Amino acid sequence: MLLQERHLTKLRELVYRLDGTEGAAYLLLGKADIKSDPWDRSRRLKLLSHEVVPIPPEEMVSVSSQHVTWGTDSFVRLLKQAQHEDLIVGIVHSHPQGLQNFSGQDDANEPDLVQLVQNRNGTSGMMASLLLPADGSPRARLWVSPKTKFDCRKVSVVGMSLAIHPLEVHNRMPHEIWHRQALAFGAALNDLLRSLKVGIVGCGATGSATAMLLARLGVGQLLLIDEDIVEPTNLNRLHGAKRADADAMRPKVEVVAREIADLGLGVRPHFIRSWVGNSRCRDALRSCDIIFGCTDDHTGRMFLNRFAYFYLVPLIDLGLAILPRASGGFSDLTGRVTVITPGAPCLLCRNIVDIQAAREEDLRRTQPEDYARQKEEAYVRGAGNPAPAVVTFTTATACMAVNELIQGLTGFKGPDGWCWNRAYRFDLHEDRRPGALPNPDCIICKRFEYWGRGDMEPFLDRVG
Ligand SMILES: [Zn+2]
Ligand SMILES: [Zn+2]
Repeated sequence: MLLQERHLTKLRELVYRLDGTEGAAYLLLGKADIKSDPWDRSRRLKLLSHEVVPIPPEEMVSVSSQHVTWGTDSFVRLLKQAQHEDLIVGIVHSHPQGLQNFSGQDDANEPDLVQLVQNRNGTSGMMASLLLPADGSPRARLWVSPKTKFDCRKVSVVGMSLAIHPLEVHNRMPHEIWHRQALAFGAALNDLLRSLKVGIVGCGATGSATAMLLARLGVGQLLLIDEDIVEPTNLNRLHGAKRADADAMRPKVEVVAREIADLGLGVRPHFIRSWVGNSRCRDALRSCDIIFGCTDDHTGRMFLNRFAYFYLVPLIDLGLAILPRASGGFSDLTGRVTVITPGAPCLLCRNIVDIQAAREEDLRRTQPEDYARQKEEAYVRGAGNPAPAVVTFTTATACMAVNELIQGLTGFKGPDGWCWNRAYRFDLHEDRRPGALPNPDCIICKRFEYWGRGDMEPFLDRVG
């Protein structure tokens, strides 16, 4: 289960009442129905917090520090909404007395509500239950019938940082390889990294560097998405690529996956040679805990920008601008790292993606003949001269981005969580944090309808 941080804050207020009695609230959840996880081929359902719904005070029947009972009128209204919008209804409660897990009382009471769900919404109706213990990690489970429930493998809280609460720790980091890293951050970070599924979209200069860094950091599962092949002009900056790869016109994803496998660190790469918006990538992207946006195309960025809010998968987007001056020196030499998660202004509101450029890329991809004609008639700008690229700056930008992941997981730079946007001028040693406000009309980051919405038709509510 993935919770928006603002939802967790609100839920804690609702379920921890000042007089020490138990409280309860409802939660509407979107879902990510993953047909086949790319690493273990299993079917999985991720639940995404979409909306918190307080229980009206007049429905509270009795409360004490041990129990809470309430009427179900508002629950039935919520079931109607859930059915209409294909969402899952959840109940949330606390244990002020400190019990860390679901109680026998919970096991006895919840099936009645599940029965209510299935009477109203049919036997495919499911109910989630979230427990917020007074101290200790949140726990969640999903009822698929009054008799059958599944414990959620982990509860992640997404917002100013990424807090992951696993039910149990698998994949303990085996050996001495990451010992020195544990000396810096503790063994717990190593175990957490081992369990992570991280997407890297774009396997060029910054993407290949990011992938190699994440593998050496000990991330257990890496997803690589790119459609290009290795060309001789890439060899100055593409980590892992060899002359023979360019000669054989090997796909970049294959080369990076091979290099990761060759490290012998037990990291499992999964690659898809495709454009990120292709429906073939959906299961893999939805399986990820976090995604690095290393692409240089605007349509790919716009896609990932939307995806981050819909599926509560944080996006760490990175880019490099090099603008040499004819007279010498640089008018720009900036590495940029931007974190996109619910609560942060989106890439559109930051003017990082160019909608006109995205339209042109889209046209070139989907209607190459129209694109060629419009280019002839100068309606589209067309691909210009190749951009300058230097391996030290692309790699340094990748390092900035991966450090932001470590910050999100550990808070080593301070308790404020992620830096939403960081721009480092390599020539001037200037480290800036350009701010931005969500555009008042932005449907992606200013309003909440898409946050945690998950699966819907059409995908990401985009036509085409
Ligand atoms: Zn309970
Ligand atoms: Zn926005």
